[in-house]
Amino acid sequence: MIAAESAVGTVSFYINGAWEKPQGRTTQPVMNPATGSTIAEVPFATEADIDRAVRTAHDAFLKWRNVPVVDRVQVLYRYKSLLEKHTDELAAILTRENGKTKDDASAEVRRMVQMVEVACGMPTLMMGDSLNDVAAGIDCKTIRQPIGVCVGITPFNFPAMVPMWMWPFAIACGNTFVLKPSEKVPLTPTRAIELLHDAGLPPGVLNLVHGGKEAVNALLHHPQVKAVSFVGSTPIAKYVYATAAAEGKRVQALGGAKNHLVVMADADMPKTVEAIIGSAFGAAGERCLAGSVLVPVGDAAGPLLDLLVKRTKGLTVGDGSKNGVEMGPLVTGDHCEKVGSYIDKGLAEGATALVNGREHKGGNGYFLGPTIFDNVTPEMTIAREEIFGPVLSVMRVKTLDEAIDLVNSCPFGNATAIFTNNGKSAREYSSRIEVGMVGVNVGVAAPMAFFPFAGWKASFFGDLHAHGKDAIGFYTEQKVIMSRWF
Ligand code: NAD
Repeated sequence: MIAAESAVGTVSFYINGAWEKPQGRTTQPVMNPATGSTIAEVPFATEADIDRAVRTAHDAFLKWRNVPVVDRVQVLYRYKSLLEKHTDELAAILTRENGKTKDDASAEVRRMVQMVEVACGMPTLMMGDSLNDVAAGIDCKTIRQPIGVCVGITPFNFPAMVPMWMWPFAIACGNTFVLKPSEKVPLTPTRAIELLHDAGLPPGVLNLVHGGKEAVNALLHHPQVKAVSFVGSTPIAKYVYATAAAEGKRVQALGGAKNHLVVMADADMPKTVEAIIGSAFGAAGERCLAGSVLVPVGDAAGPLLDLLVKRTKGLTVGDGSKNGVEMGPLVTGDHCEKVGSYIDKGLAEGATALVNGREHKGGNGYFLGPTIFDNVTPEMTIAREEIFGPVLSVMRVKTLDEAIDLVNSCPFGNATAIFTNNGKSAREYSSRIEVGMVGVNVGVAAPMAFFPFAGWKASFFGDLHAHGKDAIGFYTEQKVIMSRWF
C-alpha cells in the first residue's frame, strides 16, 4: 500500500509480479503541492534495473502472446471493477501528489476506466480482413500479432490516465510492457498497478520502474524493446522519437502545446466564458489541451473580456482536496516559479495584465492565481512558448481569416477551439486549421478512448496516435497470409 503522509516511504518497483524496495538508488522527494510537504521518496532506476525489467517483460511475452485474446481481456474486465471500486481512493492520491482538484481527479479516474473498457473489446478490435478466391482457389487474410516488449514514458499532469492510453491496449494485443511514469507523481500509477496485480495479471506482463533520464535512455537503447510510447514536453518528445527510431523501434511521441481559443462575436458569451475558464484554468492550466491564447474576433472582445475577467477574479484557488476549490496549486515549486517568470516576462514585454496571478497569496503550497494578459503580440514570449500554467494571453484579430492565419503560424498543433453560433464559421475553421484536435463550442476537445488522441506539428512525432483504433495499429504487426490447398 502507498505510504500515508505521516509515514513517508520509498516508492517500489514492480518487476515480475513482485514489489521491490530498491536500496542504494538515487532518490527524489515526492511533494504534496498544496502543502509543500514531502509525502514519499521515489528511487531512480539504474541501467541494470531497466535491463532486468525489460528481460522479465521479454520472457513473459513468450507465454503471454499465446494466451487467447478472449482470456487476456478477462484480467481487464476484473481490473475495471477494481478501478470503479477504488475511484475515490485513486482520485485522493492523485490530488495529493499532483494538486488537481477532487473533481478533476475523479474525472481523470473515469477516463482510466474508459480506456480499459475499450481495450476489453480487443477480440473484435484485433480482427483482420479476409477474402476468398483472390485468384482461382487462393484465399487471402490478414492477421495482427503482438510485437513484443513495449514501453511507456509518461508526464506529471495525468498520472492516472496517460499510462492507460498505452498499456491496456498493448497487453490486450498480447504484448508485455514496462511503464516509467513521471518521477514527480509516482504514487498514482503505483496504486493503479497494485490493483492490476489484484486483478490477477500474470507476472512480468506489466512492469513498473521509476526514474528520470538514465532510466529513459536505458529503455530507448535496450535491444529487446520493440515500441516506445512517450507523452511529455516537445524537446523530450523529439529526443525520444529520434533516439528510439534510430534504434529501429516503433515510436509515438506526444509533445507540448500552445492552444488557441477563437471566439466569434456571435458566440453564446456566458457559455463560452465557462468553457474558457475550464480550458485555461482547469487543472491550473497543466493540461496539454489547456487554452493558452484567447483570440476574440472583431466585436467579440468587449463583451467577452468583461464577463471573463469578472468570473476569473471570482475563482476559488486552494488545496484541491477541499470542497469548493476550483483551481489547485502548480505541481512543484520549480514549475510554479517558471510559470511566475512568464507573468513577469509578459509585463516586461508590454502586455496588459487584466488579472495578475502573482497577487495571489497561498500559504506553503505552490500557488499562483489565474492570469489574463491583454494586448499580447506575436513576438512576445508569452505568445510563443508553452507556459503550462494558468496564464491566458489575449490576441485580438479583426476577421476569422486573420484568426486562422494566427493559429496556423504557431509551431504547435495540439488542440484548438472555436466558439460561434454560425455553422459556416465553425466548418471553415475546423477544415482549414492545422491542429490535431478541434473543439466547436468545446473548450477541452479531449477525444474519448475509442477515438485517436494526438496533435500535429511540434505537438506530435510519429504516425499512429494514442488510443482508439490507432493503438491497435501501433501495438501489433500485420501479416498477410495467402493459402492454396491442393
Ligand atoms: P517532461 O517532458 O519533462 O517529462 C515527461 C517524461 O520524460 C517523464 O517521464 C520524465 O521523467 C522524462 N524526461 C524528462 N526529462 C528527460 C530527459 N532529459 N531525457 C529523458 N527523459 C526525460 O514533461 P512533464 O513536465 O512531465 O509534462 C508536461 C508536458 O507534457 C507539457 O509539455 C505537456 O504539454 C505535455 N503533455 C502532452 C500531452 C499530449 O497529449 N500531447 C499530454 C500530457 C502532457
